[in-house]
Amino acid sequence: MRTYERRLSLAGLIPVLALAACAAPGAAPSAPAPSSDDPAVVHARLFTLDTHIDVEENIATAANDPGGFTTNQADLPKMRAGGLDAGFFILYSAQGPLDAAGYAAARQVVENKYAGIVRMTRAYPDQIALARTAADARAAVAQGKLVAFLGMENAYPLGEGVEDVSMWAARGVTYMGIAHFGHNQFGDSANGPGGTPAPPPVHDGLSPLGVELVHAMNRAGIMVDVSHSAKSTMMDAVSVSDAPIIASHSAVSGVYDNPRSLDDEQLRAIAATGGVAQIVAYASYLAPETPERAAAVAALREEVHLPAGASPATLYPESAALYAARMADIDRRLPRASVSDFVDHIDHAVAVAGIDHVGIASDFDGGGGIDGWRDASETEAVTAELLRRGYTEEQLDKIWNGNLLRVLEEVQAEGRELRGE
Ligand SMILES: [Zn+2]
Repeated sequence: MRTYERRLSLAGLIPVLALAACAAPGAAPSAPAPSSDDPAVVHARLFTLDTHIDVEENIATAANDPGGFTTNQADLPKMRAGGLDAGFFILYSAQGPLDAAGYAAARQVVENKYAGIVRMTRAYPDQIALARTAADARAAVAQGKLVAFLGMENAYPLGEGVEDVSMWAARGVTYMGIAHFGHNQFGDSANGPGGTPAPPPVHDGLSPLGVELVHAMNRAGIMVDVSHSAKSTMMDAVSVSDAPIIASHSAVSGVYDNPRSLDDEQLRAIAATGGVAQIVAYASYLAPETPERAAAVAALREEVHLPAGASPATLYPESAALYAARMADIDRRLPRASVSDFVDHIDHAVAVAGIDHVGIASDFDGGGGIDGWRDASETEAVTAELLRRGYTEEQLDKIWNGNLLRVLEEVQAEGRELRGE
């Protein structure tokens, strides 16, 4: 909507400027267009894309209406208020046992989330459009709509084969993560179950089935996502993939070390594929948490019976409301990582990988959110901090959408070529 309004107002300006030029023949013939470095103005001009927003299985039901003001960090009013134009809405399933029953249970969860995200776009067709390509996204924004891409976090629900990859591509999934918490049938994770430290390696990288998975994603035109994968798995994916790869939501260990984050070698390897590292606004990956805050959060999680690694999005509504209220109080008393910490990670990734290989992800409703960018309505704060550090609007355009959309186009073109289309 904002972009559309801007185009209308620019269109309205042109005759005025032409008239002014006629009326004042002595004026410079090609005065530069009026510009502003006001963050609000620049932010409103930018097409902002966030590559990781989690959803609950009941999204777009009476109990969880994304068109209203929800307790979620991302819903349609908050996206509009914060100028967050596009999001990858995530088909995430917690990993259970590596057996038929485990795969089937996870498959049901991602089917439910898929149905819910589609339901959201059907419920609000004049507000948000499902996109599969960069062109779809740009067309939706030109019509004043928000954009919903689909990403799958963890390929675990695919089971012991890769036959379903092309089906998910046909249903609009544009990236797929190899692993999540815990090693799986495709490769090793950066963590153990529930986000615990990684147990000893099982595959020491991609398994043979994981290699097949990367090939299947290349062929389907799905971006290979290495966030949550162990470094060994991620580096294997770099060497196996015929197309650029992405980290859909990761921080960098060059600023604050965490096994789940990307080190400089990984950043350079992603850039070498032509890919992109989407830096995640997940507080505990960005900066050390004070012991006081850690204790307060642990006590709260225990109070609402939220196991380690589980998302607050899995809570029943009453518990979720209590959790949100208590967490807001903790955030006020004991602030967590801030937008400044977050942009430290972006700065480092840009310095190591280059301006063409860095993007942004919130992980809203999946544990993301930081002091100053607590939900989608505060998205302008990120643009403001980047501007304050000297990024140009052209560079912000790359970080906020251009890099990721370039990779998506390349991956989809490579897929068509591999399929002989
Ligand atoms: Zn994640």
